[in-house]
Amino acid sequence: MRKYIVGNWKMNGTSGDLTELSSIASVAAKYSAVDSAICLPATLVDRASGQLPGFQIGGQDCHMDASGAHTGCVSAAMLVDAGAMVTIIGHSERRAAQHEQDADIRLKAEAAISVGLNVILCVGETLEERDGGQALTVVLGQIEGSLPDSASGDWLSVAYEPVWAIGTGRIPDAQDVAEMHNSIRKQLVSRFGEAGRSIRILYGGSMNGENAAMLLAIPDVDGGLIGGASLNSAKFEPILVAAANSGE
Ligand code: PGA
Repeated sequence: MRKYIVGNWKMNGTSGDLTELSSIASVAAKYSAVDSAICLPATLVDRASGQLPGFQIGGQDCHMDASGAHTGCVSAAMLVDAGAMVTIIGHSERRAAQHEQDADIRLKAEAAISVGLNVILCVGETLEERDGGQALTVVLGQIEGSLPDSASGDWLSVAYEPVWAIGTGRIPDAQDVAEMHNSIRKQLVSRFGEAGRSIRILYGGSMNGENAAMLLAIPDVDGGLIGGASLNSAKFEPILVAAANSGE
C-alpha cells in the first residue's frame, strides 16, 4: 500500500503562506512513491488548488447538508468547487469544540462521498480513556458509529489520533500504536470484507522528522496526519523521506 502523508494546517495560513505551500508541493513531487496532501483553511483552497494543479489540496471539515441556512459553514460541494480532492472529518478538535458526535461525522462522510470528495476520518481516545484502559473500546466505537455502511480505500482513510498526542510532542509506545492499528484493520475487514484491507490507516499526533521512520515502520500504519510539522517544507520533507524509505 502506498503511504499517504497529509498535512493539516488547522487555523493557520493566509495568502502570504502560499509561497511556503508551493515549496511543500515542490518537495512532495520529489517523492513519487508517496501520496501527499495538505488540508488548508477553506479560505485558501481555491487559490492553492489554482496555483498548484498537480498537488492534492484538502479541506478540514464539511457540513452534512448540501446547502441551506447554516451560517459560517462550508458544504462538501463547495470544497470540490474550490478544487479540494479530500477533506478531514471528525477531527478531535471539532469533536471537542464543536461537539460533533459520531452520527454527525457519519452524515458528513456520506455528504463528502456523494460529491466525489475523499475523506480522512479521525478517531482517537483522550488521556483519561487510555489511562482507564478504554482506548480500544472508544476508538473502535467511534469507527463503528461514524463510518457509512460501505467504505473502501478508493475514498476513505482512517486517522488514529490519540487526543493527548496532538500538539504535545508526546507519542504512544510503538506497541500501543501497533495494537490499535491492528484492531482497526480487523474491524474494517470484518465490516467491509476485502475492501477493508484497502483503507489506509494513518497515525496522527506529534508525528515529526524524528519519529516518522519508527511510526511508519509499524504494521498497518499506512501514513500520517501531521499538524505542526506540516507548516513548512523543512519540517515536512523528513516525514516524506521516512515514508518513501518505509517500503510497504
Ligand atoms: P500535530 O497535529 O501533528 O500538531 O500533533 C496532528 C493533528 O491534529 O492532526
